[in-house]
Amino acid sequence: MRISDILKERQTFSFEIFPPRGDLPIEQAREVSRALSEYRPDWISVTFSAGGSGNSGNTFTIGHDIERELGVNALVHLTCMGATAAEVDSNLQAIRAAGIQNVLALRGDRRPGAQTVDFSYAADLIRRIKETMPEMCVGAACYPEGHVECESLEKSLEHLYLKQEAGADFLVSQLFFNNEDFYRFRELCLRYRIKIPVVAGIMPFTSVAQIQRMAFTCGASIPAKVVKRLVAAGDDKHAQARAGMEYAIEQICDLAANGVDGIHIYSMNHPEIGKATYDALVECGYLKA
Ligand code: FAD
Repeated sequence: MRISDILKERQTFSFEIFPPRGDLPIEQAREVSRALSEYRPDWISVTFSAGGSGNSGNTFTIGHDIERELGVNALVHLTCMGATAAEVDSNLQAIRAAGIQNVLALRGDRRPGAQTVDFSYAADLIRRIKETMPEMCVGAACYPEGHVECESLEKSLEHLYLKQEAGADFLVSQLFFNNEDFYRFRELCLRYRIKIPVVAGIMPFTSVAQIQRMAFTCGASIPAKVVKRLVAAGDDKHAQARAGMEYAIEQICDLAANGVDGIHIYSMNHPEIGKATYDALVECGYLKA
């Protein structure tokens, strides 16, 4: 089913996974998606070469399995940095052949040495998809605090408007730790005439090292209330992960209470994150048991 059609009907709940790295067996991703499907997500998204990893070989195969074996909608990511139009077209053919109707169109994380070839920005990729496969439902990324490479939040919103104009059907946000940033962003979207649904992306932090990496790579700010919880957890890795999960649950319950279009969980191949977030959203009435 097209995700844009689901978003017209209800608030959504979804997960993100990434393909196993290097030579790890694809069965690992199958197990993770099978476990996550127990929580009846509206879709499971599969990253493509995330973090500049070049790890994209299995994305469409995993997406195909999610659709066919699990009966869950797959949202496959597709990046365009360094790609030729012919490569993009060939990937789109593979996506269609895999029976997938939803693509998250991205420029992609910067990889050392990657040059712009036929596409400068995600909006160019969105346009290409809509020209060659108008039936495809296309999502795009958005940044509640502005994109890390962009000079201001306002400029970031101008660029986001171009994605909508190129044909994006919905948006999924980058992770954020302060819900107020997301609410302010939603209001700004309306001011910038961005009317497509905006799904909130939440990543439970698992350790001090991970949250530092996230803050550095994607520019997400870490509020004092998060730092205080990490300080209280001290060097205990389990306590840090517990603090991250508790904080994420507070975030998603607040988002649910504030009528967001959807909640997307960066589950990072951890089914237990799927279970904890599902239970919390049932408890607060966002999802039905
Ligand atoms: P764009 O929209 O092209 O923006 C890139 C930069 O260019 C921004 O600073 C923007 O403000 C600027 N810009 C846009 N248009 C213009 C213009 N016309 N003129 C001047 N400047 C402009 N990365 C991966 O590699 N693989 C993944 O699977 C993946 N999944 C992701 C999923 C989500 C939900 C999110 C939020 C991000 C994901 N990323 C992934 C990371 C993403 O690729 C990076 O954030 C990347 O730096 C930007 O991608 P984009 O599609 O938003 O690019």
